[in-house]
Amino acid sequence: MKYVGAHVSASGGVFNAPINAREIGCKAFALFVKNQRQWKAKDFDTKTLDKWFEEMEKTGIEAKHILPHDSYLINLGHPEEEKRQKSLDGFLHEIQRCEILKLDRLNFHPGSHLRKISEEECLDRIALSLNQAIDATNDIKLVIENTAGQGSNLGYKFEHLAYLIDKVEDKSRIGVCIDTCHMFTAGYDIRTREAYDKTWKEFDEIIGREYLMGMHLNDSKPELGSRVDRHHSLGEGQIGWDAFKFIMNDERMDDIPMVLETIDETIWPEEIQALYDLEEVR
Ligand SMILES: [Zn+2]
Ligand SMILES: [Zn+2]
Repeated sequence: MKYVGAHVSASGGVFNAPINAREIGCKAFALFVKNQRQWKAKDFDTKTLDKWFEEMEKTGIEAKHILPHDSYLINLGHPEEEKRQKSLDGFLHEIQRCEILKLDRLNFHPGSHLRKISEEECLDRIALSLNQAIDATNDIKLVIENTAGQGSNLGYKFEHLAYLIDKVEDKSRIGVCIDTCHMFTAGYDIRTREAYDKTWKEFDEIIGREYLMGMHLNDSKPELGSRVDRHHSLGEGQIGWDAFKFIMNDERMDDIPMVLETIDETIWPEEIQALYDLEEVR
């Protein structure tokens, strides 16, 4: 079964995320567990937590179908040790917030070398951060998102994700999230049946489908292989509806959160419905 939703707003309080998700018919959702552009956040108070659990109950959505996203400031592969440490501290804080909210996974972008160290050195620093984060926390699965490879961001090749998984000691704590826009602009075509099958065969061989723990469903403004990260509404961009039809009928994507990060949130209810309409009876 497919669990589709969107990255909904949590502004005004984390409990607003399930409220917003329910309003637009989400069976899955993503949220930021703190302001994504600030390092600091005040601890959740009891009132906030009570309301979160109350609203979560109303949605009927399970933790495994929620994909919190970490803040944009965190760079687990930062070339400067002091800044890597600051990122790791911020990351640990977010993992702890996920634990408090009784979530089970946290989606993050791998990191950037900032043109100061090699890709491999940067990946090693990310792996070090991941092992340290795993040692310092319990249970939450860390879900690496593939990137478009814009600027000096790593994670645009399946091999980068596989390299990180390989270096993580406790593999029960690691997974990946595939963003279709990032995948496409990183050079992985999914527009035709043939291209889609080829790309996902590579995914299975290089990473392994057991690691797929979330999807971001986005169309793309830039073209294949452009390495530019600009999302578009489904069917409006360079990818087109066929790819989303393949996804909605691919059992690899059963039972994981699949969330829209498309640009026009006013049409999210229609986009969610359109995705379910693509499902063929199995
Ligand atoms: Zn992301
Ligand atoms: Zn994404």
